[in-house]
Amino acid sequence: MMTASADPTADRSDPIAPLREFVIEMTRLVDRTADESALVAQGRQLLARLVARDDWLPDAFAQPDPQFYRQYLLHADPLERFSVVSFVWGPGQRTPVHDHTVWGLIGMLRGAERCQRWRRGADGRLAPDGGEEILQPGQVDAVSPTIGDIHVVANALADRPSISIHVYGANIGAVRRHVFDPATGAPKDFVSGYSLDAVPNLWDRSAAVRAGASA
Ligand code: FE
Repeated sequence: MMTASADPTADRSDPIAPLREFVIEMTRLVDRTADESALVAQGRQLLARLVARDDWLPDAFAQPDPQFYRQYLLHADPLERFSVVSFVWGPGQRTPVHDHTVWGLIGMLRGAERCQRWRRGADGRLAPDGGEEILQPGQVDAVSPTIGDIHVVANALADRPSISIHVYGANIGAVRRHVFDPATGAPKDFVSGYSLDAVPNLWDRSAAVRAGASA
């Protein structure tokens, strides 16, 4: 039996559909343009739609670690033009001061995040740039070498995990980038990798095909 719904991705037999639709639309976007401001502006709208609901992320990609924040790869574009990651914070966990070297979008899915941007001054030292911001579910933030690429991010919640969905203009786990000593501004190379050797299966559309065939 088909269930009537205004939103075809709300089908519970295909819970991963919102992520699949996002990956398809992002692929179309990177096919259309390589312009960073267009990618950030249009990618932001796509990511806002994805994180407007919290019913599609498989549990395996939502598990916190008692010690370190986790970065689970959800999808990497085969041409490495973008990647999608679930970032899972345990209570009280935070990043070091770091950069990305490519554009990035951060969409809050669950819980809340505190973000502090940093900027390198004329003396070469790093200093906080503006005040701390809180990202709430459904909100999207952006970073890039042109709009500001250095920040510190932390779970805003002391008593439970938070999860944000990140999209980057590269295969981010394999990008050589930097963490910084906040006192001196000295950079240190790092390559983040990913926390799991698996990605979600976006492509089991069999239930919808079966339902269509029997309709
Ligand atoms: Fe970051």
